[in-house]
Amino acid sequence: MSHLPEPQPGSAPLSLAERVEELLATEGPLPIVAAGDPVLRRGTRPYDGELGPALLARFVAALRVTMRAAPGVGLAAPQVGVPLRIAVIEDPAPVPPEVALARGRVPQPFRVLVNPVYEPLGPGRAAFFEGCLSVPGWQAVVARPAEVRLTGLDEQGNTLDEVFRGWPARIVQHETDHLDGTLYLDRAEPRSLASNEAVAERWAQPTPLMAARELGFALPE
Ligand code: ZN
Repeated sequence: MSHLPEPQPGSAPLSLAERVEELLATEGPLPIVAAGDPVLRRGTRPYDGELGPALLARFVAALRVTMRAAPGVGLAAPQVGVPLRIAVIEDPAPVPPEVALARGRVPQPFRVLVNPVYEPLGPGRAAFFEGCLSVPGWQAVVARPAEVRLTGLDEQGNTLDEVFRGWPARIVQHETDHLDGTLYLDRAEPRSLASNEAVAERWAQPTPLMAARELGFALPE
């Protein structure tokens, strides 16, 4: 009969799978990490089966619940403290038709992005207010490539290779940036920074033209 020594507290760091198990031990939406936590800045490692199919499915389901409860249109694993290259997106696009048209905000079904990478297609740029669940209460205008090619995998390991434009292009860039330790504020026009209240009261127009004029920031040609 062998005797195994008791593990010493803090002696062995938890594996990623153990950390995710721990995170999923409580029901309901996961706590969202706010800006200032290094996990949002360190970048992530590509997902290489670390969780196994069953735990990955549970983790993705928890990301979906958390994103919907927030509510948000995307959520990246580092935002719940997990440094893996995984994100989820979903946008029912509940906006007025003129806003949907100006921003290219078409509904986006729920989907899982595993190891996503994007590259801009063409010189076009689009600038709009966006926000982040890890920077609650604030929005800022970000000029981003209008069209990107996104490559990676889905949660089943199927190849993902797709062109995104309009609002979905903004969402996949924002979430993929999270996986590289980049926050939207890093790319934003600093003078456009506005509270959610200010955006709702003053800058709800389909485009940020008036905000640019009144707050004093530039928009792409
Ligand atoms: Zn975000």
